Amino acid sequence: MVDRVLVTLDGAVRDADAPLLFADDIGVLRGDGVFETVLVRSGNPCAIEFHLGRLRRSAQALDLPEPELGRWREAIERAAKEWGTEREGVMRLVCTRGRDTELSGAKSSVTSGDLAAAVPVPTSYVLVLPVPERVQQARTDGVSVVTLSRGISVDLAQAAPWQLLGAKTLSYASNMAALRFAHRMGADDVIFTSTENRVLEGPRSSVVIVRDKQLITPPAKNGVLPGVTQRALFAEAEKSGWKCEYKSLFTADLLTCDSIWMLSSITLAARVNSLDGLRMMAPDNADDIIDLVNRGVGRPGAIGDW
Ligand SMILES: *Cc1c(COP(=O)(O)O)cnc(C)c1O
Repeated sequence: MVDRVLVTLDGAVRDADAPLLFADDIGVLRGDGVFETVLVRSGNPCAIEFHLGRLRRSAQALDLPEPELGRWREAIERAAKEWGTEREGVMRLVCTRGRDTELSGAKSSVTSGDLAAAVPVPTSYVLVLPVPERVQQARTDGVSVVTLSRGISVDLAQAAPWQLLGAKTLSYASNMAALRFAHRMGADDVIFTSTENRVLEGPRSSVVIVRDKQLITPPAKNGVLPGVTQRALFAEAEKSGWKCEYKSLFTADLLTCDSIWMLSSITLAARVNSLDGLRMMAPDNADDIIDLVNRGVGRPGAIGDW
């Protein structure tokens, strides 16, 4: 059984233990690129069309060349097949801006003598790794969360599109720093808040609250990434008679709701079992939420535009 799979966009299965990137790849030099993290379950990349749709949107936000979705689908299929059906996997779709042609004169597809600036060719690959151990525990026991300020206003996404708040970019150092900060406080995860005390998202997950038979998540215009898992939950929940809403939430709403969920492609649904040290009991419908998420991400096919 393989424990890692690497497929490049030309469809080639590579040695995942051999070097792949050039030292001057702009993804490495500047964190300039986009990615997706996809759960592979029973050999299927879950909600894959959702992920490809967002990859496209993220690439647009960074002015990267339009991803060739046909080639991505082939590489994804190949990687999933190599991974097999026996256990879950974490599939990463990675697309960087490519090599820094301007600085290094590295090879590019541009003919020499062309007056136009050399356009780097994106570096694109699909990588599958085992699911981290923390994931199973988060699914079954939930997560303890601290709220941390992101130091930004909910208006920033629209006022400053270059902040790329709606894109899943490779610049995640500050998100990882927030998680380490939380770990030092004894917590598992983080809910970021805005300068107006609005609820934003986790460093790698969307926040959804449950109130009676209603699900609420902050809208993307507040500067959060539109989540695949959250959308899959909403699509499934609406069919079962839940009211699903995109609405600004204050941190106070976190204390008065029935339950809070951190939703993400790999962990799927992790219930917040304590918030800033305050214990949160599981509501009766906790398993219903988990079932809805499982069903939602398991559905094949496209689920609307981004
Ligand atoms: C990936 C991510 C999410 C969750 O998205 P999914 O598509 O459900 O995995 C939410 N917020 C941030 C910042 C993320 O990086």
